[in-house]
Amino acid sequence: MTALPHVKLKPGDTIGILGGGQLGRMLATAASRLGLRCQVFSPDPDSPAFDVVLNATCAEYADVEALELFANDVDVITYEFENVPAAAAMILGARRPVLPDRKVLETTQDRLAEKDFVKALGIGTADYADVSSAASLRAAIARIGLPAVLKTRRFGYDGKGQVLLRDEADLDHIWEELETRSAILETFVAFEREISVIVARSADGQVECFDVTENEHRDHILKISRAPAEISDALAEQARGIAEKIANALNYVGVLAVEMFVVPGERGPQLLVNEIAPRVHNSGHWTLDGASISQFEQHIRAIAGWQLGKPIRHAPVTMTNLIGDDIHTYEEWLTVPGATVHLYGKGAPRPGRKMGHVTQVFPPNRPDPEQKP
Ligand code: AMP
Repeated sequence: MTALPHVKLKPGDTIGILGGGQLGRMLATAASRLGLRCQVFSPDPDSPAFDVVLNATCAEYADVEALELFANDVDVITYEFENVPAAAAMILGARRPVLPDRKVLETTQDRLAEKDFVKALGIGTADYADVSSAASLRAAIARIGLPAVLKTRRFGYDGKGQVLLRDEADLDHIWEELETRSAILETFVAFEREISVIVARSADGQVECFDVTENEHRDHILKISRAPAEISDALAEQARGIAEKIANALNYVGVLAVEMFVVPGERGPQLLVNEIAPRVHNSGHWTLDGASISQFEQHIRAIAGWQLGKPIRHAPVTMTNLIGDDIHTYEEWLTVPGATVHLYGKGAPRPGRKMGHVTQVFPPNRPDPEQKP
């Protein structure tokens, strides 16, 4: 295990954030509450995170000079997305501490490496096979059967780069359409529910999990998260144990999300890990209003070398994503009792684009908890 750089920020110090989306924006907002400054690096001039920081670097991730100047301006560097190019992470890492460590990216940027890593920890996953051609796709199907999900190994998110295979019709065509040379075939999991655990780990090994979240997807995109998940205490404990094991094995510093399937088993429900996200995660947005400390603050504390908080959930809580044209309902949401509206300041509402979200906290004995637009 490589030694991590020692970081201990003071109020007034500056955090560099790679990526300018809503996650970067919410990280920067959380940092500001703790008296820390942020500088955001993003190639997109319309980055939502630029709006909330004083200093922004708008440059490509391949721009070595811009990366070096950015590194010189900040005290520690973190990221809001997992596809940070390895070369950029290396250049930055030579100048400033990068947390979570860039080695984590090597594991989590590649679905095959990630599954191998999880399996080696003795944690369950869907059965999977490496696929690099139409012929190896046929061989993989012969081994793991159908239905199955074919996924590109890299750069997949929100269902992009994924195909559900129900029969063997036209595999050559499907393989060509995926436009990749490296993919993974997974058994299609008939899950009871999808859950996730948001876990934070500090450099000295303190680990804190949020309550397990239950997630509902529409068209492969997260639509609703509910905490706590409707699972037994024993299964929730097991889920948190899995997240903690993964965070420890990665020698992780920061917030990490582990997405899991709950599947029926002979001796009760079982957990299979679907994906690890080495960053704050959409399924943890409920913590902004539903817990004593948010996932964003927890991440900032971890990379700043501060003590983690012990998160306490206030009550049952729901997070609803405003996706694409859902943004037009925001004015109705403003009037819903108990709802808190978060808008990301993005431009045009394209289909599938995450424009904002709403959290609803439901203290017991309050009437009308389900009222919504
Ligand atoms: P992913 O990009 O791997 O997180 O997948 C996005 C969503 O597709 C998941 O949250 C599931 O709803 C669904 N999905 C992914 N992999 C599988 C699988 N092997 N079996 C069933 N559903 C899946």
